[in-house]
Amino acid sequence: MFTEGRIERVRSIVAEAKLAGKKTALVPTMGALHEGHLSLVRAAKEKADFVVMSIFVNRIQFNDSNDFANYPKTLENDLNLARENGVDLVFIPDEDEIYHDHKTYVDVEGLTEELCGAHRPGHFRGVFTVVSKLFNIVQPDIAVFGQKDIQQAVSIEKMVSDLNFPVEIIIAPIIRENDGLAKSSRNVRLDAVQRKNAVSIYNALSSVQKMIEGGVCDYQKMYHEAEKIILEAGAEKIDYITLADYHSLRRIDRIKHKAVFAVAAYFGGVRLIDNMIIDFDGEKIKCVL
Ligand code: AMP
Repeated sequence: MFTEGRIERVRSIVAEAKLAGKKTALVPTMGALHEGHLSLVRAAKEKADFVVMSIFVNRIQFNDSNDFANYPKTLENDLNLARENGVDLVFIPDEDEIYHDHKTYVDVEGLTEELCGAHRPGHFRGVFTVVSKLFNIVQPDIAVFGQKDIQQAVSIEKMVSDLNFPVEIIIAPIIRENDGLAKSSRNVRLDAVQRKNAVSIYNALSSVQKMIEGGVCDYQKMYHEAEKIILEAGAEKIDYITLADYHSLRRIDRIKHKAVFAVAAYFGGVRLIDNMIIDFDGEKIKCVL
């Protein structure tokens, strides 16, 4: 288990693993690990023989400096969890080494205009840039991302295809608390009341799921249902409640193909996101949340 940030050292360790015939997977994270991150490690281990986890709170993807400053940091615990869960190499990049005199950025046009992209200027550019760098440093065969950040996962699939990265992208399901709240590193910033109210995001998705599986295709109906549930639970602000085409991530008014229904709302100053994928083949419809 290696935890320093030298790029050349990481490259040589991964090269050795590859020489030994090992398939390599990368799980990029910002640390403050929870069961969601560990599920990505398990998904990686199913497909690969050598699992690299990166832990890097990537300053350039934070459009809000308070959010960056308050981002939870639990490195010692993270390293224990990574070890216990069979991660072979933890890469903790050094910010100076990563961004010294940095002038090059990666963007995916079109896919980041709605949803979180509309509310977090520069966020995805920061994500795509660091993920590209991690792909070039680690050179994994596989990389695992969570459905929890669906816009990120779908856009990275597009980036990999457009830029010919030889990396297979796996999107792993959302891991939830017992009451349904999506696990997130930011959940620790909620007090007890906010934590109780935040589950309304999941309740809203579940209620809209029932509507959709009962035959409702019209976005306006979904929107009003979700908004009512989340506002009644005391959300301070809703950034979006959006129905979008799964591949283009453009807003749609009705479900016609595979789609995503996604929410971002604030509780206690903490921005929480959640979503469900709507699988629709023209006949059968199924929501995955
Ligand atoms: P983060 O550390 O928040 O940047 O997340 C690192 C990776 O873990 C991303 O691919 C996230 O989508 C994924 N992730 C975060 N929360 C969850 C969750 N509750 N279930 C599954 N994956 C998650």
